[in-house]
Amino acid sequence: MHNRVKAIVTYDNHNFAGPIEYIFNIFFLAYGISYRIIPFNRFNPVEYDLNEVLVISYGKKYLNTEVKNQIYIYSSDLFGDNYLKPESMPKVPLKRYDGLPIIYDGRGNFDGFVRKSENLIETNIDIIASSFFMLSRYEEIVLGKKDKFNRFSATESLAYKEGFLNRPIVNEYIELLWSWIDSFNLGFKRRKLWGDKDFAVCLTHDVDSIRKYRIYPPLWTIGRSILRHTDLRKAFAITIDYLRAKSGRDPYDNFDYIMDLEDKHRLKSSFYFMAGGNTKHDTGYSIDDLYVNSLIRTLQERNFEVGLHSSFDSYNNFWLLNFEKEELERVMEGYVLGGRQHYLRWKTPDTWRILEKVGLKYDTTLSFADHEGFRCGICFPYKPFDVVENRILNIWELPLAVMDGSLFDYQNLTPKEGFQRIKSLIDTTKKYNGLFVLLWHNSSLDSLRLPGWFETYERIMEYIGKLDVFNDTAQGIVDWWKKNKPVYVEK
Ligand SMILES: [Zn+2]
Repeated sequence: MHNRVKAIVTYDNHNFAGPIEYIFNIFFLAYGISYRIIPFNRFNPVEYDLNEVLVISYGKKYLNTEVKNQIYIYSSDLFGDNYLKPESMPKVPLKRYDGLPIIYDGRGNFDGFVRKSENLIETNIDIIASSFFMLSRYEEIVLGKKDKFNRFSATESLAYKEGFLNRPIVNEYIELLWSWIDSFNLGFKRRKLWGDKDFAVCLTHDVDSIRKYRIYPPLWTIGRSILRHTDLRKAFAITIDYLRAKSGRDPYDNFDYIMDLEDKHRLKSSFYFMAGGNTKHDTGYSIDDLYVNSLIRTLQERNFEVGLHSSFDSYNNFWLLNFEKEELERVMEGYVLGGRQHYLRWKTPDTWRILEKVGLKYDTTLSFADHEGFRCGICFPYKPFDVVENRILNIWELPLAVMDGSLFDYQNLTPKEGFQRIKSLIDTTKKYNGLFVLLWHNSSLDSLRLPGWFETYERIMEYIGKLDVFNDTAQGIVDWWKKNKPVYVEK
């Protein structure tokens, strides 16, 4: 009985069954229509009512003419002999279809990218390999280029070089395939991914520091400002700032303010705490500090999530990351479910493996430090694929869209420009019914150090607050998303 099956997916490249099925499963999770995936050699058209079923084929040769409704995606050479070799990298500049960048193009024997005839759509846009390239972060493994903090830079990425980092290109491929599916008029209906809401927002805060000032006054900064004469005003401002901090109003200790602001707009967020690390980049605080303890409890009582901000060197160190997770769990008296890597330090696929192995359920690291945008090419939560071990990783990636510092530290944008960049990414995410993930440090809400950005955060909260959006903590969003099960029909 195959009455319930609406779409049959077949493919001819059995050696790459893992990656191919992985991508189709992500597409169909978004559609929510029932489907089966069958290797080409096991597909027998006579078993189905071909008037009601749509066949989506992925391969090199022309398939079955017995099939009535068919989309044929001609495959490129990514899944072949050069897999994981530099020769398998996309050829630039990329070709475009209606402005849509095509990372890998197929080998169908016709001109152009799409050919439509009665009940058959053929395409040379290899949306499967192209999506796999983005989601698995393939280029980061094959190129292996690193910045001074051992990170893969936006500027090394295909998306940045080809000008599509601000576009969730995998979502665009998902829409393209859907437009073809829909054109067969078989009455298929797409699911709503966020209940009665169009899209989702996930707000996060990495707690790098609790206090701006330590015990001693910032004499060096003040002194230098005075010596330069022109900066007398600055010296004065820092002195006032310090004195206020010491009388109990440290600019970084603004957690009540953040909670109140988000509460006002009926928004929830996740706060990621550091629980270890002793490099000079782990500026920190002790997780055993009584004040930190009480702060964590307050956040929990007010229904904000507390998660892990793993230290500078933890991204490639299982033991360190595991230790930090356990430390935070001890203080929280509960389980840590996810978080983010400090400095967005990351190694693909190793960091995913470590996070999976320590038992975290989700990660929110994956945007680039030097430029905002869709590093993974998608604005959905998704389970990543380990190209080396050829398997799906058991962790949800909630791809970060913007880290605050990418705007003011790395690109020197004005607060106004920063707001526009963020707003534009929110609007794009809405268009694709996606998830927008924002990182704003508590230490960035400091008017003296970052004039104008405080107001930018308030404007963003106001903008999001007015949208009809699904919002929850990161963990709440993972829980919700997991309800969107693929409608996979077994034989
Ligand atoms: Zn950090």
